[in-house]
Amino acid sequence: MADSNALEGLTQALRRLPGVGAKSAARMAFHLLQHDRAAALALARQYPGYLYATAGLHPHHAHDFSGDVEDLFTDLLKHPQVLAAGECGLDYNRNFSPPADQCFAFERQLGLAIAANKPIFLHQRDAHADFMAILRAARPKLKTAVVHCFTGTEAELEDYLELDCFIGITGWICDERRGTHLVDCVKKIPTNRIMLETDAPYLVPRTLKPQPKNRRNEPQFLPHILHAVAHARGESAEELAQASTQNACQFFNFGLTSTAA
Ligand SMILES: [Zn+2]
Repeated sequence: MADSNALEGLTQALRRLPGVGAKSAARMAFHLLQHDRAAALALARQYPGYLYATAGLHPHHAHDFSGDVEDLFTDLLKHPQVLAAGECGLDYNRNFSPPADQCFAFERQLGLAIAANKPIFLHQRDAHADFMAILRAARPKLKTAVVHCFTGTEAELEDYLELDCFIGITGWICDERRGTHLVDCVKKIPTNRIMLETDAPYLVPRTLKPQPKNRRNEPQFLPHILHAVAHARGESAEELAQASTQNACQFFNFGLTSTAA
């Protein structure tokens, strides 16, 4: 969930966006907005046809999940500018919420996505077995899903692809301390399943030069990630940009022609 600082940073970033000329950056900026549910929708309303929101409770905050939150998400998911549920899932890396709370909130949010017939943004860290068990049970009724900010192993990747999930790749691949395995992994993602994302304001790509002084990741840095992933996959940046944009549009049920700026 965002504080007012983060929202101010986001607004500034948005003002810079049109000058960047990276249409795919704008598209992938949806994800920026998920960290504060109501504020995200308010902001999305200010930029109709340009910004969209998702509605979900991150596993770090799963202990806050309640009937009221569920009612709020049910309402938000009816809104046409709320394109997806999530992000939600399991994160046992730091267990900011107890695993039992995380599993409960995850299952309920999968149910909300199914009821709303909207796609879902998924987050998984150090919780693969539980995550797969819960997701596998819900998958037949789910419209579609993306495992965002994929940082896992090749075996985990195969599990997600078997459930026909999209795979979101961030600047984690540029991290020489913990992301080098992704250089091989991304080659295994089919062209029709890969999506590029920033995870802004987090995860500034470590190979980005110069590094932003405010240490905030922004949609304008998406082309840097695009080039790193395209290089790893041995394809052109243009091909990958087109594939990622097309996949994002399919995922969000977002017409290429109706809203293209
Ligand atoms: Zn996440």
